[in-house]
Amino acid sequence: MRFETLAIHAGERPDRTFGAVSVPIYQTSTFVFEDVGKTRGYDYSRTSNPTRKVLEDTVAQLEGGKAGFAFATGMAAEATVIHLLKPGDHIVSGDDVYGGTYRLFQNVMQDFGLEFTFVRMDNRARIEDAIRPNTRMLWLETPSNPLLNIVDVEMVVDIARRHDILTVADNTFATPYFLRPIEYGVDLVVHSTTKYLNGHCDVVGGAVVTTTDKLTERIQFLLNAMGTCASPFDCWLVLRGIETLAVRMKQHEENALAVANYLKEHPLVKKVFYPGLDSHLGYEIARRQMKGFGGVVSFEARGSIESVNTFLRRLKVFSLAESLGGVASLAEHPATMSHASMPKDYREKVGITAELVRLSVGLENVDDLIDDLRQALEPG
Ligand SMILES: *Cc1c(COP(=O)(O)O)cnc(C)c1O
Repeated sequence: MRFETLAIHAGERPDRTFGAVSVPIYQTSTFVFEDVGKTRGYDYSRTSNPTRKVLEDTVAQLEGGKAGFAFATGMAAEATVIHLLKPGDHIVSGDDVYGGTYRLFQNVMQDFGLEFTFVRMDNRARIEDAIRPNTRMLWLETPSNPLLNIVDVEMVVDIARRHDILTVADNTFATPYFLRPIEYGVDLVVHSTTKYLNGHCDVVGGAVVTTTDKLTERIQFLLNAMGTCASPFDCWLVLRGIETLAVRMKQHEENALAVANYLKEHPLVKKVFYPGLDSHLGYEIARRQMKGFGGVVSFEARGSIESVNTFLRRLKVFSLAESLGGVASLAEHPATMSHASMPKDYREKVGITAELVRLSVGLENVDDLIDDLRQALEPG
């Protein structure tokens, strides 16, 4: 079955008991045993839950992986994955990963004996130079947040395989509709389902997709041991969101490209970051490895931080809010919002300046979005 069909039919649907077409929300903590020592497939919802299972199977199939797991948040998914490692292990991570990922690595996991090196993943030699004898994991995010840098997934996997290192791809921005990292050999995919997979800004959630029995067994063990799983109701919301993922992503992209093209001609805009523009550094790689370029556009404004603030305050259709991937357009200021957890000098080193604005281009009429940007850029 093809992507759009899987998004609607993957997993056990209609349900086994009464044939409900909408996946039932099994809002239960525990399950009655059939007999002593014999379950009907489920015993306790931390371990597994039928609603969660349908979501997990769906995400796994969309990514082309072995098994899927649903978590309470994207960060819960990441925290669980990082527990595959042991004190003394070293991780090479992209240097402009999601701010919360950076914080988890740098301010939490480092205290538990993990070592991290952050590098720009656009250059083979640079990645290879970062690898040490104790490197166990390569962590990539493409397109990255908020600069939309593109990582050549095949290249990173090639490096990792030569050194017997596990690769993890955060596929939140692209979604499996545009990019399937497992096809390029990635071992684990992580998601913040909060974003495009759910798509309606009404849930926080995460997911992991595995590619081997060994990883599946270990992630299931960690999820249960750490209790990082998602609730049945949240799983149901994400499942409902995924049913329309394909049509949403197509329209997000169409709107984003129009917004990027508008911004790049604007005199008050210094630079536009969108991988679908042929001026973007990663354009050729993105075109090769992705089916589309996604719905996030960042830009650097000309002028002062005050003019950026004025712009953000004047927006009417775009809401000033963190997060992305929902049907409603959002604008945010990475330096003070999504990436405030990165130290200022580090932020500036990777290119997240005070004049950078990130737009999550939603599904409103694109002319209304462009009109909104125009009136906010040109007050008076
Ligand atoms: C939002 C986000 C996360 C974290 O997910 P939460 O659901 O907010 O915990 C991780 N990676 C990326 C790329 C994100 O955008």
